[in-house]
Amino acid sequence: MSDAVTTDSADRVTEVEIQPLDPAAFEPLIGPERMARFRSAAEASKRLLGDRRVFNVNSTAIGGGVAEMLQTLLAYARGARIDTRWLVIEGDPDFFAITKRVHNGLYGGPGDMGQLDNTEHRRYEVVMERNTEGIVGRVRPGDFVILHDPQTAGLTHAVQKAGAQVIWRCHVGHDSSNQWTERAWQFLRRYIEAADAFIFSRAGFAPEWVDRDQLYVITPSIDPFSAKNQPMSPLNVRPLLGYVGLLDGTLEPPRVPFTRRDGSVGKVRRFADVLENGPAAPAHAPMVLQASRWDRVKDMTGVMTGFAEHVDPALGAHLMLTGPAVFGVADDPEASEVLLECMMAWAALPHEARNRIHLSCIPMTDPDEAAAIVNALQRHASIVVQKSLAEGFGLTVAEGMWKARPIVASAVGGIVDQVVHGEHGLLIDDPHDLPRFGAHIELLLTDTAYAYDLGRNGRERVVEEFLGDSHLERFGSLFQALS
Ligand code: UDP
Repeated sequence: MSDAVTTDSADRVTEVEIQPLDPAAFEPLIGPERMARFRSAAEASKRLLGDRRVFNVNSTAIGGGVAEMLQTLLAYARGARIDTRWLVIEGDPDFFAITKRVHNGLYGGPGDMGQLDNTEHRRYEVVMERNTEGIVGRVRPGDFVILHDPQTAGLTHAVQKAGAQVIWRCHVGHDSSNQWTERAWQFLRRYIEAADAFIFSRAGFAPEWVDRDQLYVITPSIDPFSAKNQPMSPLNVRPLLGYVGLLDGTLEPPRVPFTRRDGSVGKVRRFADVLENGPAAPAHAPMVLQASRWDRVKDMTGVMTGFAEHVDPALGAHLMLTGPAVFGVADDPEASEVLLECMMAWAALPHEARNRIHLSCIPMTDPDEAAAIVNALQRHASIVVQKSLAEGFGLTVAEGMWKARPIVASAVGGIVDQVVHGEHGLLIDDPHDLPRFGAHIELLLTDTAYAYDLGRNGRERVVEEFLGDSHLERFGSLFQALS
């Protein structure tokens, strides 16, 4: 870490433009009754808020689950005439190294083994101070400010001083406490203890000092109409993946466009970075997919080893491990290291396994285009995997379920709230249990009728529980409780 820490008054905060989306789009999925309930909840929130605004503050506009969700959830809130805004703070490498350490700690791990002492507090606070003016300069007394994750926790006091109410939303967590969770919570406690409310994806993630009256459990949601999840004909999936280099086959650009979040038409033009030097996955072979950030907690190398050692090559399946291009996600400083570990693990595999395991990165320059590529991958996959060592929620699971894919995942964190073992997918109790992981994959590759049923159930579950209308209604109840 460099020694120089400076503060100045420049505006470090970026406001992300939000194009309203009409929540009426949900009606064919959720039916008229649920739609009517949503409409009246939205009207009630609108009356309650009056001219107060709802700000969301996080540390990246692209990459990872929080940005993924805010992109569309806030658009539907705007469409429901709630004045909501999205601000992104600016950090520097030292700051993101510290917040990543805290993030890893909340997931129960040591991260880079660095300290979380006074020096780190000071460096963290300097970045918070640099961003304070940009936030409080935009906020008015009475507004609600939702601060997301450790990266923004240190803004709590300044925002409250400006007269707004602070809701701290935590998207990560571990099912039990250990020395690393304790240390991470100790780091954060002084910043967030005074928040007006806390949102966790699971009640069990909250530390004991969070007052239960201030604790709200709100599960994330996916947008069925975003470029990530919108319908895509099977006829278009293979050409798209062939063109970007993830499947063998055509080099013709895909003819059929996708719809961007602003409603305009988009075309996939960029190629994926294919990181292994063998032939691309054959288009006809069953694909097992894990699409995640390059984060150790996602255990990409564990998925690779489990597949190489415990999935019979005679079944003809190929594994695709894919993640965002490593410079694409500003607040994720370990990504390139984790990707490199993965590439080295791949190079050490026996030749036979290397032929059926593929590593790739998806360019993030155009987030809608990147989303369309992930959409195609998830639709092409025979099985969607999320073998995380810990998981806050795991949007990739809901995304796979929405596409009627059977899931194989570890029974950790928010994954357990999405997948019931044997109903929507198959879970492994111990994320390190690679033989069981392999056996689950083999079962779903061979019993395709069972795999189909799990996928169909999963899609229904997403409609019931993980769409934006329920998510926004829960926010409405929270604003009511705080008013
Ligand atoms: N994702 C993506 N490109 C990739 C890999 C993942 O857009 O190459 C997306 C994925 O589809 C999901 C999000 O990143 O929407 C990850 O969210 P999740 O909750 O699964 O995990 P997080 O990154 O928040 O830990």
